Amino acid sequence: MTRPLPYGRQFIDDDDIAAVVAALKSDCLTTGPAVTAFEAALAKVTEVADAVVCSSGTAALHLAALALDLGPGDAVIVPSVTFVATANAARYVGGEVVFADVDPATGLMGSEHLEEALRRCGGLVPKAVFPVHLNGQCVAMKALSEAARRHGLAVVEDACHALGSRQGEAATGACAWSDMAVFSFHPVKTVAMGEGGAVTTGDARLAERLRLLRSHGITRDPDGFLQPDEAFDAEGRPNPWYYEMASPGFNYRASDLSCALGTSQLAKLDRFMARRAQLVAAYDRALAPLAPRVVPVGRAADGVPSWHIQVVLIDFAACGTTRAKVMRGLAERGISTQVHYLPVHRQPYYRGRSPGLSLPGADAYYDRCLTLPLFYGMEDDEVERVVRELGRVLS
Ligand SMILES: *Cc1c(COP(=O)(O)O)cnc(C)c1O
Repeated sequence: MTRPLPYGRQFIDDDDIAAVVAALKSDCLTTGPAVTAFEAALAKVTEVADAVVCSSGTAALHLAALALDLGPGDAVIVPSVTFVATANAARYVGGEVVFADVDPATGLMGSEHLEEALRRCGGLVPKAVFPVHLNGQCVAMKALSEAARRHGLAVVEDACHALGSRQGEAATGACAWSDMAVFSFHPVKTVAMGEGGAVTTGDARLAERLRLLRSHGITRDPDGFLQPDEAFDAEGRPNPWYYEMASPGFNYRASDLSCALGTSQLAKLDRFMARRAQLVAAYDRALAPLAPRVVPVGRAADGVPSWHIQVVLIDFAACGTTRAKVMRGLAERGISTQVHYLPVHRQPYYRGRSPGLSLPGADAYYDRCLTLPLFYGMEDDEVERVVRELGRVLS
């Protein structure tokens, strides 16, 4: 019996279900103890001072852009090979996206790509770079952050693929070489909350801003009140109903239900990562006979990955076929595949904003990439089945 294989899926156990049921039976469905507990657990795993949990990875990126005060006239450097949300976060706050190229073998941007993109900023003021740890492999952060610092840029890591990966001595999310790091807990990511995200930071001032912006910009902290006449009674005590909004924020909160799931899932991270690494090693072995027309995605020189997806690079033309035919052929055999990603600078919206932009590394990566199934509950013989069917579809 063969079962259909998705390219990724969550793994939910009985204890995850029990954790959510317990949250459902508790007093708080949102903004209660499960949120605080998940933030503490995430800060521990990522070895960082503060984790601010929110409603999605996209919301986390938006909050990071807001916390940095990015706005019109500011340039944000974003690698083109990423999910659209990384670039859109800059646009949400009125900033302009200047796309960086990537290494055609790994899909990762490096400091040389940052330097090249900075030369294309024209009249904009370069303010930030949002490097992306694609597929769970890490950008060479030390070199990137040194280049960013030379140009006075803030650094926000899009670590949505990379929970659990390490950058030398530091965990991803520890912000050893960045101001903030952003995570997603969408079910396709290594740890699932349903919908959910987080920003981690070692900067207490940024953490405070992120928490404020996450919930309408409203504060109930008397130390921060700007209108003492309205805030305090004659004895100088804060009025019990009073709260203040100095500037508008959003409702990007995460619920206790999803945070209960997040905490329960996070406890399995080591297991999830170890199994994914085994499956990636199994893919490496099974794919070897298909080289050089089919090769696993290039290995990053830096860090220890936490694999999010299994990408292979295929020379479709040399195989006498097209990616569409291969994807359809595999789908007929019950194997679902994806493409991560169509370079964002080629989306109609961004093409209109930077006409004629050509990024050869991103294009070369895109031309060859295909994402094969990889998920915790996958069996070794299913890896062999995928590669066997891929070989058949290609020949
Ligand atoms: C998933 C993802 C996001 C967005 O996360 P959501 O939780 O789906 O909003 C952003 N960037 C990258 C690289 C992602 O993979």
